[in-house]
Amino acid sequence: MSDIRLEGVSKRYGSVAAADSVDLAVAPGEFVTILGPSGSGKTTLLSLIAGLTAPTAGRIFIGGRNVTRATAQERNIGLVFQSYALFPHMSVLENVLFPLGVRRITGPDARGRALEALKQVRLEGLENRRPSQLSGGQQQRVALARAVVFKPDILLLDEPLGALDRKLREELQVELKQLQRTLGITTILVTHDQEEALSLSDRIMVLNHGRTQQVASPAEAYLRPANRFVAEFLGIANFVTLADGRQGVVRPERVKLSANGGGGPIDGAGRGGTGTPARVVEAIYLGQMVRYHLALQGTEDGAPAMVAAVPFVGPAHSPGAEVMVSWESADVWPVT
Ligand code: ADP
Ligand code: MG
Repeated sequence: MSDIRLEGVSKRYGSVAAADSVDLAVAPGEFVTILGPSGSGKTTLLSLIAGLTAPTAGRIFIGGRNVTRATAQERNIGLVFQSYALFPHMSVLENVLFPLGVRRITGPDARGRALEALKQVRLEGLENRRPSQLSGGQQQRVALARAVVFKPDILLLDEPLGALDRKLREELQVELKQLQRTLGITTILVTHDQEEALSLSDRIMVLNHGRTQQVASPAEAYLRPANRFVAEFLGIANFVTLADGRQGVVRPERVKLSANGGGGPIDGAGRGGTGTPARVVEAIYLGQMVRYHLALQGTEDGAPAMVAAVPFVGPAHSPGAEVMVSWESADVWPVT
């Protein structure tokens, strides 16, 4: 188990700052996810840590050792990419044996380790297959086994589940988390999928234009986003105006709905704390939840809309229904 530390790491491609003065400290055994939109610099950051790219500025430490100038081989890192990059002409077992061979570990010892790694990713019995005889999910499990078989100090995963369909992706997320916990290996995952980031990680780092927006626990980032970008990237954000004129964000789960009894205190448009009359524009049934798209009363087309996510317990409000919307001022998080 090693820690990872980035100090002021930058990478420029001409005029593009793919990584811009990034600081990050990952504790031994921690699972950190780098989350950001396409082109935000996620792969660049991972490549810098892996030693596949050299930084323009800054320093990188793994296990306390300054590896800024070390080659990828010298860093002892397990890597998994979205494209499985398995050797097609080799069997599953040979694929997993490969990194051991590179490290001159051969014979029964290597075989034992490879079979153990395959067991950890639940691929026992498939060791003689070729990659082409496996499903996408199984191929990605082989890639994972190959990445951990040589007991790397850290594990780096670049959108490893991105090519899989939703159900399979969710299954593999659970398995990935379990494997990471079993191995206790320091892990950095890269994804653009906010649900994946929120559900898997001890902490997430939100990236935009190569710059860190926030590093925090999933709950902290979701409920206390550092800025508007984080608020919107991590899910649906209802922006409301606070009494002091600042903007704040309320998450849909924190918005309360009640049938409009024609009364109740109202303090203007979206000031919160009490109740605001609204009309249901759309009610979307999501299984356990109903998501309501609401138009606040007294506002014209394109004016303040709200989204509420309410546990489904009985008949939902229909489109056109008049309702009361409220939220606690404690659930409004000011953003800049
Ligand atoms: P992400 O993985 O978040 O999609 P990348 O790290 O791949 O983002 O890219 C970040 C930025 O750096 C993008 O603007 C991309 O075009 C640029 N970039 C990445 N790699 C190179 C490269 N080898 N040469 C030039 N520009 C690059
Ligand atoms: Mg990428």
